[in-house]
Amino acid sequence: MKCVTVKKGVNCSFMASSGCSFKDGFCLPVVEKCEGCDRTKEFEGKIYCNSYPDPEAKWDHGACNFATHVQAVVDKAGKVKINPLKASKRAARGR
Ligand code: SF4
Repeated sequence: MKCVTVKKGVNCSFMASSGCSFKDGFCLPVVEKCEGCDRTKEFEGKIYCNSYPDPEAKWDHGACNFATHVQAVVDKAGKVKINPLKASKRAARGR
């Protein structure tokens, strides 16, 4: 159903005839770590994520799995590291 709150006109699975069913009833803006991601879009002067309504939560446990500008890799010790080269590798391949 199309959003009528923050991202007006965008199809969203949280939108219902009774209104937005996500947490407090609206999407939250992106966080600093989202900078450079292709999934961001501006709505009425604020930047939001096109894929997830609470961007900060997507970074709680390492890198956001929807991010287009970074890639999470697990090192030999089992720690999650963020590889920021994903976008530049894509650009080098000509995409
Ligand atoms: S996909 Fe992840 S990194 Fe990209 S804008 Fe959304 S929450 Fe941020």
